[in-house]
Amino acid sequence: MAVYLDNAATTRPCEPAVSAVFQNMVEDYGNPSSLHAVGLKAEQNITEARKAIAAALVCDPQCVTFTSGATECNNTAIFGAAKNYGKRKKKIVVSAIEHPSVAEPIKYLEEKEGFEVVRIKPSRNGEIAVEDFIDAVDDNTCLVSCMLVNNETGSIQPVRKIFSYVKRNFPECITHCDAVQGFMKIPMKSAELFADIIVVSGHKVHAVKGVGAMYIRKGIRVAPLIMGGGQEKNLRSGTESVPLIAGFGAAVRALMPTMSVAHSNAEEISEYLLKKLAKLEYITVNSTAENKSPYITNFSVKGIRSEIMLHFLESKEVYVSSGSACSKGAHSSVLTAMGIPDKLADSAIRVSIGRTTTKGEIDVLVNAIQEGYQTLAKTK
Ligand code: PMP
Repeated sequence: MAVYLDNAATTRPCEPAVSAVFQNMVEDYGNPSSLHAVGLKAEQNITEARKAIAAALVCDPQCVTFTSGATECNNTAIFGAAKNYGKRKKKIVVSAIEHPSVAEPIKYLEEKEGFEVVRIKPSRNGEIAVEDFIDAVDDNTCLVSCMLVNNETGSIQPVRKIFSYVKRNFPECITHCDAVQGFMKIPMKSAELFADIIVVSGHKVHAVKGVGAMYIRKGIRVAPLIMGGGQEKNLRSGTESVPLIAGFGAAVRALMPTMSVAHSNAEEISEYLLKKLAKLEYITVNSTAENKSPYITNFSVKGIRSEIMLHFLESKEVYVSSGSACSKGAHSSVLTAMGIPDKLADSAIRVSIGRTTTKGEIDVLVNAIQEGYQTLAKTK
């Protein structure tokens, strides 16, 4: 039996999402901009999905914009905010452990557009200190960006504390939060985060790949990346992918009510995993943040490179990840920023559990790791 433990990379679409995608492909296939009934139906389906995402973020549906995914949302947010708010204020403060879809646009602004970028490093356990952000943000800062849950270690960042300070002291500074790994996993209300922009992704919450959404607080002006027919209130032109958007809405509607039950289950599974790993002297756990998502656990297997262990586990039909799926085996900038030595970073494994993960599956994983270590350590 295959054991899928790579839910931070992507999740299996849930049945309501798949049915909604199907329905919007074969029945409600109109263009939401068309003025006739078929178009209207498609538009209504988008409206319903928008309401579902807004309810989950506790915000007005008017504040929700759909895009092709969190990567596009992050790019739009960063370039779009920099364009409107970064004409005179040329400083950006960002955590050093962001996903590449945040880190790369900001690097571009630094290298090509003359922005000064301050990157706030986490402590060894992966947590960012609020004071470090407070020290760095000043009158010249146009954008502050900090993710909610780190995708490699599961550390939860003190976004609310950082952003509430920023908005109190520098109300014109834009606060942006990549909440992809926190959405529908930990409680999150848009107003309580003090974020001007919040980014989420469909395929991490049992919807289909290729759809994301961003909350943009009323009054915040983000310039569009993609121009054309003016869809999504001019912020994201192009005919909406109604099936994917409807599927996203259906997944959120179906799973949001059980978020806290799922969280309790994830906590139990995560504790079970950590207890089992603690018995193996060749394992070092890298996810040591006090405030941590139970869905993600990162650890290193002494002397065995990540890819080697990953492929051994794969041969046992156990699917995990080395660091983040997006970095495709490249050196983890997150673990490096945490000050984790290269040797440990090179042997890091990320286990990301899902809503249906069982203790039995964790047993299969840990047995496979033990077997892998014994086999691979010998051949070194
Ligand atoms: N941010 C984070 C924290 C992520 O984990 C991911 C997915 N790896 C993304 C952004 C990008 O999301 P998408 O695949 O929807 O572009």
